[in-house]
Amino acid sequence: MINGRLDGVAGLAWLALWLGAPFFVVFWPALVAASLVLRIFPGGPTFRRLGSLVAAILFGWAWMARLEPAHRPLVERVSLAADTALDVVLVVLGAAFVYVTCARRYPTRWHGPLATVAVGGLLSAGLLALAHWQVPRRDRDAAIERLQAFLAPPVDPAPDATPGRVLVVGVDGMDWNAVDVLVRAGDLPAIARLLRAGRAYQLDPGAMRLSPELWSAIYTGWPAGRSGIETFWSWNFAGLSSRIVALPKFGTHEVFFLGRLLSRLEPVAPWRHRLVSTADLASPPIWTIASAQGRRVGVFDPVPYALREEVVDGFLAWNEEGDVAVRHGDAAGDRVITPIGGDFDSVEGLLVREGNRVRLAASLFAEGRPDLGIYYTKLVDLVAHHDSWLRPSQRGLTPDGRSDPPDRDTLSRTGLLAAYRRVDAGLAAVLDAFGTPAHVVLVSDHGFNLNGYEHNHGPFGVLVVSPSPEPGYGGVAPVLGVAPTVLALLGLPPDETMAPPLDAPDGPRVPAYRLSVTPRFLPAVHQPDSGLLERLRAIGYVGPR
Ligand SMILES: [Zn+2]
Repeated sequence: MINGRLDGVAGLAWLALWLGAPFFVVFWPALVAASLVLRIFPGGPTFRRLGSLVAAILFGWAWMARLEPAHRPLVERVSLAADTALDVVLVVLGAAFVYVTCARRYPTRWHGPLATVAVGGLLSAGLLALAHWQVPRRDRDAAIERLQAFLAPPVDPAPDATPGRVLVVGVDGMDWNAVDVLVRAGDLPAIARLLRAGRAYQLDPGAMRLSPELWSAIYTGWPAGRSGIETFWSWNFAGLSSRIVALPKFGTHEVFFLGRLLSRLEPVAPWRHRLVSTADLASPPIWTIASAQGRRVGVFDPVPYALREEVVDGFLAWNEEGDVAVRHGDAAGDRVITPIGGDFDSVEGLLVREGNRVRLAASLFAEGRPDLGIYYTKLVDLVAHHDSWLRPSQRGLTPDGRSDPPDRDTLSRTGLLAAYRRVDAGLAAVLDAFGTPAHVVLVSDHGFNLNGYEHNHGPFGVLVVSPSPEPGYGGVAPVLGVAPTVLALLGLPPDETMAPPLDAPDGPRVPAYRLSVTPRFLPAVHQPDSGLLERLRAIGYVGPR
């Protein structure tokens, strides 16, 4: 099909139609590169032209993965891509100009492998420089330094918090840049109190980028690839007995955005994808371990994917079609569904939802008095993803995002100020209901870049363990350190597979909990609401992408 310049273009057009219009848009740099290469080899052997074409497409694909906002057309965010598209066009036009000029000037010598190398080199150098200029920093050193200076000296002596009771508050996408600005402005009194008494870390997500793999790592201490969960989806192919946890990836994105392609073909193809659940975890999460070790647990909607009901000592709450279902105690217990209201389509709707979730969680914690409490919210991440539809210039940010943490006005304009304040008020309410003495572990899976990179390059997240015998800044901590830390604070030993605990002594280890603790899952009675998933997908929260 693709065996000549004209056929090549027709073949690519066919390919583009087959893959769907969004795919065509995202591969345009590859198309430009491919046409350049085909121009260089107008009459070579077919295999060489095909090889060049494949190389050019791989080149374009690699660069689309590197230059994050450039892939946005695929997720229907054309406005965001425009800021980067111009830069990429300039780089490609520059390389094309050099090629055409040299080919005219030296028509006999300027062809063949030399020209390919030269054009490829120019494109690579230009795009590397562009990427270097655009890719935001992962660390939040500057924000941490400002916060430390503001909070110092740590005055509050650590109140007595004997090991035993721990409240984990998970805030998806909470970023030190925003926390820094808002704590200093007095907007987050509850978080400021935690920081004064606690030890703060930048949480390094390592090679992980997506919320499902990160929260799985946070709760199990096992990284993606071993934890059993990577993206929101897993795949079952006819003839394969085991499920596919993740499709091949380059950077954050699936190869050629394979997930979108496969899900589009699903009606006529022998494969299916489904939302992952806690039953897919390869190692038990901290609440299952704690419950098996005789601790009471209270777990409120802890993961961004599906929670599979299991028997624990305490209560489990999970999202069910936008409302919250709660089950207390053993297998015979009743599941009670509480309407949550609000909606997913506006910041106001999300704020209403969060207020109602917090009220329910607080009453459950007060009533159940668990030893381990977990409250998780994706409010901040949802609002940030909402806003990432806007171009950087519309948000008043520079495109590079390097030295421009958002100011309070930007946070206010984007709804993030309201979201952070709601989370802070929720933290205070949940902590009050949970009761003291207790340790609080405030954790976010990743930060968030408001310049279109979102969390696709793994900006460091927030971790605060409070109170701490050593208040202040504890440095960069690995995401795999959270689970052993929570266990140690509960007075339970981490297992031999886990990282050392932070802010707690590393005592003797036990054999892997994977071998000794088996979750007692109940039959799945609830299928995740596809309408809700569609809404989350529409605002960019749920992949595949
Ligand atoms: Zn997340």
